[in-house]
Amino acid sequence: MSELTDLYQEVILDHNKRPRNFRKLEAFNRTAEGYNPLCGDRIHLFLEVEGDRIKEIGFQGSGCAISKASSSIMTAEIKGKTKNEVGLLFQRFQEMVTGDPTDRTRPENLGNLAVFAGVREFPSRIKCATLAWHTLKAALESRDKTVSIEEVRWKKRIRQPTDLRRR
Ligand code: ZN
Repeated sequence: MSELTDLYQEVILDHNKRPRNFRKLEAFNRTAEGYNPLCGDRIHLFLEVEGDRIKEIGFQGSGCAISKASSSIMTAEIKGKTKNEVGLLFQRFQEMVTGDPTDRTRPENLGNLAVFAGVREFPSRIKCATLAWHTLKAALESRDKTVSIEEVRWKKRIRQPTDLRRR
């Protein structure tokens, strides 16, 4: 498991250092900004949507390594996909990062997005990892405003570790 964790960390650090699609598109028809006040992460997404498909995507912003890597990996994974496919990915990603922290199974069908599985052990980082996705959702729904991640209702699934339970 630790080898897998190291590999995941390497991918995150790489995307933080060399973010993919880190640019403002010259032609875009959807855009949204996202802000995570807990950590100070900011993202500005630009999309070129054609019909039902995301033809091109770019982002700019600043923030912690997790938020930046998450934005970078998200843009790489969703380019060329339909809105429905992206919706399903978001759902699975959300379930993964808010899942049971003691669950060590390797997430399937998530491609590079699986590198964020470890985030579920650190509840304060979940918002860093999902900011890009909430911003993407706002852009696709063309809500012309900045989304603050505080507006999102989070699933309260943080459990007490067993050794802290009263005996
Ligand atoms: Zn952050």
